[in-house]
Amino acid sequence: MNQRSSPSRCIECGHHAVSPTHIEHTAEVKHDGKLHTVEVSDLPVERCGNCGEVYFTLESDEAISVALRRQLGLLSPHDIVRNRAALGLSQSQFGSAIGAAQESVSRWENGHIIQSRGTDRILRAYFYLPELREFFHDLIETPELGSVVVERSRSEMREQKHPWYSAAQHNKGPTWAALQSPAVRRCGPPLGDDDRHGEKGMVA
Ligand SMILES: [Zn+2]
Repeated sequence: MNQRSSPSRCIECGHHAVSPTHIEHTAEVKHDGKLHTVEVSDLPVERCGNCGEVYFTLESDEAISVALRRQLGLLSPHDIVRNRAALGLSQSQFGSAIGAAQESVSRWENGHIIQSRGTDRILRAYFYLPELREFFHDLIETPELGSVVVERSRSEMREQKHPWYSAAQHNKGPTWAALQSPAVRRCGPPLGDDDRHGEKGMVA
């Protein structure tokens, strides 16, 4: 099969007999380093009525992308645009928030690039968890962040003045207050005099 945008004269037989139609098609598409078999029952293509040669169009590519996203359970471009808009963020603001370039956001939204599974999880978590949005918003990327595994609850760590918490406090990062869910704030331990972050948290 050849690929061109909108043929009317067949490259194979020379007849002016190429017109739009739909076919059943199985595509092999690579995503995240894996080859996926995608079946599309009504793929828009153009086909020569004389020799039967099939031409893929931009619409064909788009339909295959849509089918692949659906098969893999990834957010659609429409989902991403709608949720970003609901949060009142520009592509650039959204990109900064999750640590991606504005160009990448633009490509996910116009469907030119299908986001990786890892990125899709970040996008979903960002839309789904207000706490994560706050965390990203207030994030100060100190060398300590993520250098240790946090197994205890955040209020417990705040109470025990864990080194990471101290580092965040030292950098004036409101990270810990942002991380606490309202439930944790209500049930948390009494605040110490030096606990400025906690005070901020108690306001909510
Ligand atoms: Zn032909």
